[in-house]
Amino acid sequence: MNNCLFCRIVAGEIPSKKIYEDDEMLIFYDIKPMAPVHFLVIPKKHIDNLMELEKTDAALAGRLFFKAQETAKELGCEDGGGRFVVNAKKDGRQTVNHLHIHFLGGCKLGGFGAGIGWQLKNT
Ligand code: AMP
Ligand code: ZN
Repeated sequence: MNNCLFCRIVAGEIPSKKIYEDDEMLIFYDIKPMAPVHFLVIPKKHIDNLMELEKTDAALAGRLFFKAQETAKELGCEDGGGRFVVNAKKDGRQTVNHLHIHFLGGCKLGGFGAGIGWQLKNT
């Protein structure tokens, strides 16, 4: 078993608050929620990040996004919506190097630029 945190969650070595699981994906609550509803959707198969996605993973990626949408609806966010986020590599400040989609919702979120920083320094 590799040392990837999310692979270890998939393997059941580290506990998580699971929302959904099937053969190819796992959905669980983020341990440090940044919104009233904050969950992560991950493939069970290890993929480092969205930049490393292979063409052969395109259908899997589509299923991850579709299940993210279904889960957001099931958790009461259909009307209000929310934000689907994928951080990638160092500039995106990805901290766990196993592909994951964040969903944040359940309240009116801060503006998209809040906390990104670049615009504040460059305009
Ligand atoms: P990112 O910065 O996009 O790589 O996001 C990684 C996310 O994983 C962060 O929001 C963390 O709070 C979350 N996280 C880290 N460890 C765990 C864990 N054991 N269970 C659930 N979420 C976690
Ligand atoms: Zn992994």
